[in-house]
Amino acid sequence: MLRQLENLRNLGIIAHIDAGKTTVTERMLFYSGSKHRMGFVDKGTTETDSDPEEQERGITIYSACVTFTWQQTHINLLDTPGHVDFTAEVERCLRVLDGATVVFSAREGVEAQSETVWRQANRYQVPRLAFINKMDREGANFEHVLQQIVERLDSNPLVLQIPIGSGPRHVTDPFRGIIDLINMQMLSFDPDTDGQEILAGPIPEDLQGLAGTWREKMLDQLYEYSDELMELALQEKELPLELMQQTIRAATLEGTIQPLLCGSALHGIGIQPLLDAVGLYLPSPADRPAVEGIKPAKDDSRKKTESEVQHREPASDEPFCGLVFKVLPAKTGDMAWVRVYSGTLKGNSRVYNTGKEKKDNVSQLWQIHATKREPQGQVDAVNTGDIVGIIGMRHATTGDTICDATHPILLEKIEFPETVISMAVEPENTAERDKLQDVLEMLKRQDPTLQVISGETGQTLLCGMGELHLEVTKNRLLRDFNLNVRFHKPQVSYRETIGRAADVTGQCQRQVAGQQKSAQVSIRIEPLEDGNQPILILSHASPEELPGEYLATILDELKSCTQGGGRIAGFPLTRLKVTILGGQYVDGESDEIAFRIATNDAFERALEAGEPVLLEPVMKLIVSTPEDYLGDFAGDLQQRRAIIVNTENRGSLTYIEAHAPLKELFGYSSAMRSLSQGRAGCSLEPLHYAPAPAQDADQFRF
Ligand code: GDP
Ligand code: MG
Repeated sequence: MLRQLENLRNLGIIAHIDAGKTTVTERMLFYSGSKHRMGFVDKGTTETDSDPEEQERGITIYSACVTFTWQQTHINLLDTPGHVDFTAEVERCLRVLDGATVVFSAREGVEAQSETVWRQANRYQVPRLAFINKMDREGANFEHVLQQIVERLDSNPLVLQIPIGSGPRHVTDPFRGIIDLINMQMLSFDPDTDGQEILAGPIPEDLQGLAGTWREKMLDQLYEYSDELMELALQEKELPLELMQQTIRAATLEGTIQPLLCGSALHGIGIQPLLDAVGLYLPSPADRPAVEGIKPAKDDSRKKTESEVQHREPASDEPFCGLVFKVLPAKTGDMAWVRVYSGTLKGNSRVYNTGKEKKDNVSQLWQIHATKREPQGQVDAVNTGDIVGIIGMRHATTGDTICDATHPILLEKIEFPETVISMAVEPENTAERDKLQDVLEMLKRQDPTLQVISGETGQTLLCGMGELHLEVTKNRLLRDFNLNVRFHKPQVSYRETIGRAADVTGQCQRQVAGQQKSAQVSIRIEPLEDGNQPILILSHASPEELPGEYLATILDELKSCTQGGGRIAGFPLTRLKVTILGGQYVDGESDEIAFRIATNDAFERALEAGEPVLLEPVMKLIVSTPEDYLGDFAGDLQQRRAIIVNTENRGSLTYIEAHAPLKELFGYSSAMRSLSQGRAGCSLEPLHYAPAPAQDADQFRF
């Protein structure tokens, strides 16, 4: 059965960790009737946090996808992780979503991670709603959080509801319901039915003035987007509900406003109106722009040029194309989660994997429901705009485009940041080694930010985005796969570059199989200032001096030299510019081998002369703490070689932004908790690589 495009919402729930994403998701499932009992994060009974690791830690690690129906609207909902080690999961979700609900805590307000995800959502131009959750918490402050949303996120929220009271039951004016400013009514949620029964009634007299002021504010914002509304208002006529909703919808889809709602997910207040708003104001796949891709060239040069760009409208009669955004390994065969961008796809069919240049089988299609595969979830076909789980494909990995083989297209790849931390793992015996390799292969397909490097000594290195990322991976290997392996302590991933420019000449003068071989290559090596530029190879040699074939050999050899490790300890090289200055050849004695040897010699000399530098990953750290602890944090950060780039007071909290080497941040989250008696919070993300202290480099030298 194909679901109607207009009624479909691919919705993401995004926020800082602990703001209540999982609880909001859980309540949405409950009220939509997809779930008959309420689940609680704190009891480990939620639908989306189904991994034991997630239940134990009470956080979301793998973005889950559930599908349910609210009124006429089919919602594919992705609950994304808030922890920065799992940003890849968030980025992936944003690529395939059409709209998002950003959840804020009424107490903590706009936290570091909320800013990050808000910016990510801007980057992908995802229209969104804001939901101020936890209005029942002690210290909840609606207006304060609203002000933060305006100022810190540089946004334009449109307040559609205001809370009645705030804080827990025992305070004098507790949070007990909401005022709907569109319909000018009060909504109460009956606790005896877990909030399923909603009572709509008139606004109490003592709140009418306040509600009126907020409504005026809302309308003033709306007039900007509709002359018709303004006209009616000037004539003091009634404003039709439909016209208001259309105006809000249009401005939301444009990204100029973000409707704002509030409630308490835990106590079942405000969730149904939030679901209504998803249907009313967030885009269906048909409202989103056509997806852009490139037509793969016949030969191998897949360069993006103007003429090759093509667009696919979100319509059933377009050729099929979709993006694999997640792979869930299973013993019976991987399930690939795919967002369909155009056309329709049937079960028991074949698709083309454009990047891999391979045809693949689509045996079964599953409507996704949490992480469980329920028998009734299997479908015959899937429509444009929908998200579906595919079983049967052998080549698909995260980020791949699949499409109709007769209309190939390559969609933009999902980019992942560089890994900054690694951990060695050693199997107990050979049998375990094979098992480990298999399991890691599978985990890599599922988690593209995990890298596996096989060392020469039989050691395997797991590389990831942060301490938590590796710890979670380790626990999966031990717990889910029962592997008999030992883990070493996590280490930061170093890189190498050079400290200064150098011009050198490399030689080949030797007898190979009785023949004289000779060649000479001159190169210049320079450090690149741009922090994230990897390696650039250029040539200034004149064709008379170096015939094309030799130049090609030198370029090729330089490419493989730069992919090898550096001089200090063989860490990957980065931030290098290598220029071929010239060369010499002797007829009869110079050939490809001679030029390869000379190039190698030149590169070795260049690295030596360029004075190798060890680079370490530096993280951007944001700590939010009550001001009392500021001094303690500043002192601690100094000890960790951190540079404090900014401190700022925002409400009751002080925000410290610092740049600190990852090496000094191991175990930071527990250190931070003990420094502040659990009252501080932090967010960490990779910033760049910077020179490590000399003694760190020395420990690697002989
Ligand atoms: P996530 O990390 O964003 O997925 O947040 P969770 O849904 O896991 O919630 C984090 C914590 O906040 C849990 O202990 C929830 O029970 C609690 N929580 C969630 N929503 C509310 C709410 O509306 N009010 C209160 N008081 N607590 C809430
Ligand atoms: Mg969660």
